[in-house]
Amino acid sequence: MHDRLTPVFEEVVRRNPGEAEFHQAVREVLESLGPVVSKHPHYADAAIIRRMCEPERQIIFRVPWVDDAGEVQLNRGFRVEFNSALGPYKGGLRFHPSVYLGIVKFLGFEQIFKNSLTGMPIGGGKGGSDFDPKGRSDAEVMRFCQSFMTELYRHIGEYTDVPAGDIGVGGRELGYLFGQYKRITNQYESGVLTGKGLTWGGSQVRTEATGYGTVFFVDEMLKRRGRSLDGVKTVVSGSGNVAIYAAEKVYQLGGRVIAMSDSSGYVVDEDGIDLYLMKDIKEKRRGRVSDYVDERGGGARLVTGGSVWDVPCDVALPCATQNELTAEDAASLIRNGVVAVAEGANMPCTPDAVRAFQDAGVAFAPGKAANAGGVATSALEMQQNASRDSWNFAYTEERLHVIMRDIHERCAATAEEYGAPGNYVVGANISGFTKVADAMIAFGVI
Ligand code: GLU
Repeated sequence: MHDRLTPVFEEVVRRNPGEAEFHQAVREVLESLGPVVSKHPHYADAAIIRRMCEPERQIIFRVPWVDDAGEVQLNRGFRVEFNSALGPYKGGLRFHPSVYLGIVKFLGFEQIFKNSLTGMPIGGGKGGSDFDPKGRSDAEVMRFCQSFMTELYRHIGEYTDVPAGDIGVGGRELGYLFGQYKRITNQYESGVLTGKGLTWGGSQVRTEATGYGTVFFVDEMLKRRGRSLDGVKTVVSGSGNVAIYAAEKVYQLGGRVIAMSDSSGYVVDEDGIDLYLMKDIKEKRRGRVSDYVDERGGGARLVTGGSVWDVPCDVALPCATQNELTAEDAASLIRNGVVAVAEGANMPCTPDAVRAFQDAGVAFAPGKAANAGGVATSALEMQQNASRDSWNFAYTEERLHVIMRDIHERCAATAEEYGAPGNYVVGANISGFTKVADAMIAFGVI
């Protein structure tokens, strides 16, 4: 790490004790910024980088709700408004038992650079709760969401902070959240949330955007190496929204998805995962990948224990959650000849795994670049809401495609400019950083 950045990192660790994921996310960015600080030392002045590591505002609140048995349940809600230099705070809400301040801060921090990279006018933020929607009835999820929004509403707004979904927050949850916001404020303020349903202000392609965008990015990386997705064997971890639509785009571009996973294990289907069935199980029935194996029959098999990354493939798309792909997994992917890896999830590869891919010459796309299509399409949703317009699927998908091509170009060009050709991590971090830093410098000490 550059010697002007080491004390910044040490301060972050000291002031945010126990927040391992946040430290990891900050370290990854600071380790990339050496060349920019050497070339343009003014970026290390005026505490710009120190300020960037300190959220503008952190909100933590109590979320009480009543379950179906009439018992009072208690969760904790968070919204970290990290940086608003480029636009209103923007980023999803995650409902998962692992959520605590350190997770929300890591996600919010990454969101600053990701959002900057999209080229859209959006700042960075993130929120969520340790609420676990798994096994809860629709009525329980509704009561939880209503209680959550009863506090959150006072902090958000079309020009202030615009939440969306993330793990555990999809169309159902966003519906309950928007309904409660609308009721409390007595305003139909569509632009306050993104990921809305298509009949009430949502955008075409938002559901598909994160997964589609990740694969558009892979396509660009492969093209640069004179290859394409045609006929490639792909492994996708996870089977939620990002994974399903990444898989769908792999098929559309001529590839084949041979494995997917969830917390119950992973399924291998060498004939190609039947996405129609997988979607029905995951999106409609909220089932498990084990149900897929039972219903699909044939050569599909379920593996419990071990790692989905043991399945040999050309392209690997980690689309589940943070730190799911370790150095050991990277070693086995490399041994099996993986050509490209793109992070559909946020920070799914451990730092050692990333290094291993880069040392082995594997094309590696960090989440900030590869999965930025989701939030970019959220910005397109905001644009449609602001102009009271709604675009068709083909037009919106083309906008997403262009955005992903631009992000790829921007990362590749920046990496080249700063002496790290082909290093998309350096490219994404520096390019995301300079734009935010320039705005912060313009605003003075605030
Ligand atoms: N949660 C998504 C992400 O990690 C999307 C955020 C948004 O659309 O605001 O980027």
